[in-house]
Amino acid sequence: MYVPDDTIAAVATPPGPGGIGIVRISGPDAATTAQAIVQRTSPLEPRLATVTVVVAGEESQPLDRVLATYFPAPKSYTGEDVVEISAHGSPVLLRRIVELAVGAGARLAEAGEFTLRAFVNGRIDLVQAEAVRDLINAVTPLQARAAFDQLEGTITAPISEIESALFDLVVRLEASIDFPEEGYHFVDADEAGISIRQLIERTEQLLVDAQRGRLIREGSQIVVLGKPNVGKSTLFNRLLGSPRAIVTKVAGTTRDLLAETLDLNGIPITLVDTAGIRSTGDAIESEGVRRAKAALKVARMVIVVLDRSRPLEKEDAELIADTATLTRLLVINKTDLPPAWTEVEGNRGTALDNGDNAISVSLLEDSPDAATRVFAAITKTLLAGEELRDPPAITNLRHIELLEQAQGALLRAADAADAKSPEEFLLSDLVDAQRALGAVTGQRTPDDVLNRIFSEFCIGK
Ligand code: GDP
Repeated sequence: MYVPDDTIAAVATPPGPGGIGIVRISGPDAATTAQAIVQRTSPLEPRLATVTVVVAGEESQPLDRVLATYFPAPKSYTGEDVVEISAHGSPVLLRRIVELAVGAGARLAEAGEFTLRAFVNGRIDLVQAEAVRDLINAVTPLQARAAFDQLEGTITAPISEIESALFDLVVRLEASIDFPEEGYHFVDADEAGISIRQLIERTEQLLVDAQRGRLIREGSQIVVLGKPNVGKSTLFNRLLGSPRAIVTKVAGTTRDLLAETLDLNGIPITLVDTAGIRSTGDAIESEGVRRAKAALKVARMVIVVLDRSRPLEKEDAELIADTATLTRLLVINKTDLPPAWTEVEGNRGTALDNGDNAISVSLLEDSPDAATRVFAAITKTLLAGEELRDPPAITNLRHIELLEQAQGALLRAADAADAKSPEEFLLSDLVDAQRALGAVTGQRTPDDVLNRIFSEFCIGK
């Protein structure tokens, strides 16, 4: 992939006012560019935070007292010469500093360009670049942990080990093919089969947590259904009143429906309140119904709220029947009031089943217990009984799919070795596995995939 090697500059801190704001300059002329816009005339010393003043114009009008740090290549974030200027976090000031840097010869950085350069210069691999993005965007501490672990190499290291074992095997197989008269001299079929199965085992170890990992990285939507007055808003308030509510909006959640985000044992979940899925003639409600149905399509789970203090009606029965095939939790609410039906009687005339995943609760009770119990029931339903432990190694669907491809190719290779097939067959499967693994770390990733990944960053990252 072609990456220009000019000098780039951008504000690296988030938009809006803040205590500190940082302008980052990277490229061969980073030091001279920085030098041109600060008062200090002697060169910035490597890795030493230096107090100086940013100046503008012919008269060298002082703009702000700043801290400038010079990181010479290759030991910098991008692998190039980098200067970071920490100024007061004023958006106008920071923009002005970037303009001055541009005036001194730098170019405005594109989104993700600093991290792209770090990748191209071999400072980090693609998994780590993606981990930077995930860490920046994390909304739960567990997401941040998983991303940081990946940045530290929890995926990179095992994949490199698998790759190097694979490389060794491929080289030996190629040698056997190049010198056919030697037969299996360079690699014995049984031995190859054993080595390949060990590699399959290692990909398996990486993939074991994959589904949970995805859940942590991507989060999950839960749609809350129930007829009016059963306690849906109360459920929302109960859950959102807990310390697990996340103020940050998770990208990609359904808009226009009342949606709130919670940290459920590290999984960011978006609770979506709907207008109900009943068909209706009312135009505005129909729009609500349409959105609710759309939300249900992407939801991983539904919560159906029922009111135990009032007899179940046709509408309840329909909701129960309509959601029967989904991952569902029934919240049987208002247990503080005299019951109009019991969980067992509820069967009659409804699709309620004794085996249903249900929790009886009084959401009105002002005890944290109700929220805790509902949280526990949601977690259990969401994870289908699986435990949520430490951050799983792998969380990114792109990695999961490529590792599964690699594993598939390795399985074919193992079978070929068992069947004592010609080396060519084995070799072609092993090369497929190599290609898939290389795409994870970015050694063999097509440019369009790289472009997509880096375009998900924002400017200054
Ligand atoms: P929604 O229409 O489904 O959102 O229902 P709301 O959450 O607005 O609740 C409807 C009414 O039921 C309100 O007056 C709530 O205070 C009341 N309510 C909710 N949960 C309970 C409960 O557990 N016990 C009792 N007694 N009342 C409740």
